[in-house]
Amino acid sequence: MAKLPVLTDGPFKELHPAMTMPEALREANRCLYCYDAPCTRACPTHIDVPAFIKKIASGNLVGSARVIFESNILGGSCARVCPVEALCEGACVHNSLQHSPIEIGRLQRVATDHVMERDIQLFEAGKATGKKVAIIGGGPAGLGCAAELAILGYSVTVFDDRAQPGGLNTYAMAQYKINTDFAIAEAKLLEQLGVHFKQNTHVGKDVPLAELEKDFDAIFIGVGLGATQKLGIPGEDLPGVVDALTFIEELKTKKPADVKVGKRVLVIGAGNTAIDAVTQAKRLGAERSAIVYRKGEDDMPAYDYEYEIGKSMGCDFYFHASPVRIEGNGKAEKLVCKNAQTGAELTLECDMVIKAIGQAKRAEFLKGFPQVALDDKGRVVVNAEFQTSNPKYFAGGDCVNGGKEAVDAVAGGKAAARGIHKKLNGAAANSKVA
Ligand SMILES: Cc1cc2nc3c(=O)[nH]c(=O)nc-3n(C[C@H](O)[C@H](O)[C@H](O)COP(=O)(O)OP(=O)(O)OC[C@H]3O[C@@H](n4cnc5c(N)ncnc54)[C@H](O)[C@@H]3O)c2cc1C
Ligand code: SF4
Repeated sequence: MAKLPVLTDGPFKELHPAMTMPEALREANRCLYCYDAPCTRACPTHIDVPAFIKKIASGNLVGSARVIFESNILGGSCARVCPVEALCEGACVHNSLQHSPIEIGRLQRVATDHVMERDIQLFEAGKATGKKVAIIGGGPAGLGCAAELAILGYSVTVFDDRAQPGGLNTYAMAQYKINTDFAIAEAKLLEQLGVHFKQNTHVGKDVPLAELEKDFDAIFIGVGLGATQKLGIPGEDLPGVVDALTFIEELKTKKPADVKVGKRVLVIGAGNTAIDAVTQAKRLGAERSAIVYRKGEDDMPAYDYEYEIGKSMGCDFYFHASPVRIEGNGKAEKLVCKNAQTGAELTLECDMVIKAIGQAKRAEFLKGFPQVALDDKGRVVVNAEFQTSNPKYFAGGDCVNGGKEAVDAVAGGKAAARGIHKKLNGAAANSKVA
């Protein structure tokens, strides 16, 4: 791949740039190499963190990358996007010693970038089993499942309705964390394992489910979540009101100069997606960019460090402001809110409103899968092997867990692959990507 796609300059330059090798060696040598390491337990894909850091300390970057990819085939993107403060780094024992935690994510990137830049192929397709698996959805869950199965010797085809693979890694993650081109390139590395990609292919429209049932021995559902939920207030359909996913997707797929942004932007919601929207609107040139949230500061669902990013970028925050209606003469001009506690009304001037109140489940679509049970929240129900109530179907990622992190989706996809292997081969998986 040679030079990996990175944004080193401009408003979307990387928040956590790559470490130099001397920095990596210094950081790796701070690691205490804990036995029964809490960082490994805190990682949903259970990467052996002390082992990969020790290999960096001894200069063995290829060996380090192998340890990472054996547990998490998307170790490169996870190194960039994982909320490490809440996962591996949050569990680092250095925290309890009042020291800063080991920068696990950035060290992981040193090793994974090293092999990706040099096109070093660490794994190969396994001996053919003669069985075929269809993966619906080319996001982190689908890719995690596909890689594991290919290494176990299955013929794997990923059906994805977008132009490029990678799911939300490609189309939604903040550009200052992960570059779109990197996410696409990482996903395409699975072609080296013999994984086939069918992009722009919506299962249910372009390919009937019945065809997949006939042609494949097992089917993995990794379709993620759906569109942003509706606000259900008057004025929601005025020009100038957009949903966060559409706004972010535009800036992930166009040049910043070609993305429309208002001068006074209001983002409704206070989760991580809302923070991504409010900060990226600011980076695109909005004069004022503010979060409007119906509850208080302590209730914000966004991670603390995401909130800090918002504050450090000069974004404003309106708490206890419950949106009542959007007003304007042919376009959004004012957002009227009510304080749920005092009843007081607040009117905020704007020329763009971004809705970021969470993604809806794909319940209607999922109901089309024969005998695949959903829970009352519209999530696919799976057993310990990630098998659904229809034994031919397995599922993982956001459509099962209701929306977590990319690393959780990879873990779900990998676990489902093991379940598929057990069903089709009657064997517990013991592949290189374990
Ligand atoms: C704005 C935003 C920012 C985020 N930032 C982070 C972050 O910084 N760090 C982090 O770890 N996580 C982040 N996440 C969460 C992360 O993106 C998800 O947890 C992860 O992508 C889930 O993976 P998945 O494979 O389950 O679903 P997805 O990534 O959604 O992939 C599903 C794929 O299936 C496709 N598909 C759906 N239906 C069909 C069909 N019928 N036929 C064919 N294809 C279909 C979809 O188009 C998509 O490509 C963010 C999420 C959002 C919305
Ligand atoms: S995959 Fe994510 S959570 Fe796991 S060790 Fe790497 S950075 Fe930490």
